[in-house]
Amino acid sequence: MLQHNLVTYNTQEYAGKSFMCVFFTRFCGVGCPFCFFKSAPARNAITVADQFNEEGINRFVEFCNQANLGYILISGGGEPLTQKRAVLRTIAEVETNRIVLVTSGNWALNKDAARRYLAEIDSAIKARKTPCKVTVRVSVSAGHAIKLGIIPACNLIQLFESEYSDHPYLKFQIHGFEDDPMFPKVLAHFPGHELDYNRGPRASDDETVIKVIPQKIHVKLPSGYGFIAGISKIFGSDLRPNLHKIERLYDTIKIFERDLEESEDNNSAVLFNTNGDKGLDWSLNYNGNVCLWQNQVNDNQWNIYEDSFPTVLNETFRDPITLSYIENGCKYRESIVAEVSPRAVLRLKSISLRDYSGTVLFEEEKTRLYYAIRVLQDFFKTGRVIQNQLDELPEEIRQLIVGSPEMAKELYHKAADYTIIDQYKRREFHSIEWRDLLELIKLGHYDLTSEQIQEALAYYNSRTNLKKYETIDEVERETGEAIQKRLTDRLMYMKPTAFELQQPQPVGTP
Ligand code: SF4
Repeated sequence: MLQHNLVTYNTQEYAGKSFMCVFFTRFCGVGCPFCFFKSAPARNAITVADQFNEEGINRFVEFCNQANLGYILISGGGEPLTQKRAVLRTIAEVETNRIVLVTSGNWALNKDAARRYLAEIDSAIKARKTPCKVTVRVSVSAGHAIKLGIIPACNLIQLFESEYSDHPYLKFQIHGFEDDPMFPKVLAHFPGHELDYNRGPRASDDETVIKVIPQKIHVKLPSGYGFIAGISKIFGSDLRPNLHKIERLYDTIKIFERDLEESEDNNSAVLFNTNGDKGLDWSLNYNGNVCLWQNQVNDNQWNIYEDSFPTVLNETFRDPITLSYIENGCKYRESIVAEVSPRAVLRLKSISLRDYSGTVLFEEEKTRLYYAIRVLQDFFKTGRVIQNQLDELPEEIRQLIVGSPEMAKELYHKAADYTIIDQYKRREFHSIEWRDLLELIKLGHYDLTSEQIQEALAYYNSRTNLKKYETIDEVERETGEAIQKRLTDRLMYMKPTAFELQQPQPVGTP
């Protein structure tokens, strides 16, 4: 279906100021226990799948400069300032009104080093052709404090107060967390400060685009210097939640839903501008994969190492799965998937890793196919499916697209014997990949009968050199960094053709 231009679309409806969230690297040494991405320090040779190389930075700048950006969030998984060159080039060269640099502040543990970093950021701002507000947003939490204490935040507040208080473009922000004691501890170092709470709903972090700070506090020091603190939720992200213990997942699910409702208008692919225009919300991974936020689907990847902005834009809209999200948001997507697989929706919200939402929800090929058919049915009903393109599809698919949801649902259930296990069987066998799959099966991540689970065990046992299992309950929970990395790569692997293109060029060593 992706080979055809099945549905009409108009990218111009989303030509307002857009947003880009970029991760330059997967590595970080801070080790916060709640880190979404369990970002670890680099231990082995670093490849282009782990962080940007020089060409990646060039292509990133080029991509951004065609995307009509109003706001760039340089963030992590991974500490952005380990990639200082990429950060400084973004600040100096990318056309946008606003750049927010989210950081642990580990580079500001020493005040002189922090001063040098800020001077380099200031020089990059001065090298720009157009004005742009650059905010250094330091995360402060009990997790960050295990290694860093509150020294980086205190050093930076003092430096901004003494050296940048009247800088028109370089600003400071604190990123604190709900029910976390560390922000008050930072404030205790600045006696006489005043706090002004923004009590209204949906305080935006920007004048041009709506980027909601869940709780926004203005801090004013006795010197008159002021900065903003934004207080966020802590997500219960976990790549291996136990879906059999749903009562333990309620809080995680609630936070995930609250975030989409309160901060994203239930549509994380669209950026609403304060003047009513609509732009797009892009997400760019350290491996160069780019998609609209929460919309990566692994059978239709784009990557800046080989895809230009116009290609990515058109391919994004041409894919009915993504187009339906852009136009209808997450509730629509969830309700259609839930018609056949409530478990896929539960898995999405329990894993609660927003960046990987599309991949998690559509991990099972039959669910992805069902959703594609259902959205095409809805587009057909509203006259959006292009007849001559429809005519080129195989008869069965055509009948389904012009047919009813009941028809699609019936076929989905008839295909119940095509499962995630069959998907894995179609690939080359790797014991560790299968062991990880068995662990997820044990945790209830997929709709499978006990016969199908036994079949998976038999398939694995007959091929593996690792430990064999008679029952699924025998599969252990593996601990440590290695499994986190494998499970992350399973969801967020670099577009294979882009990897082939770049792989011979080494990026660096740990
Ligand atoms: S500083 Fe950020 S990227 Fe590093 S471990 Fe903590 S939350 Fe993860």
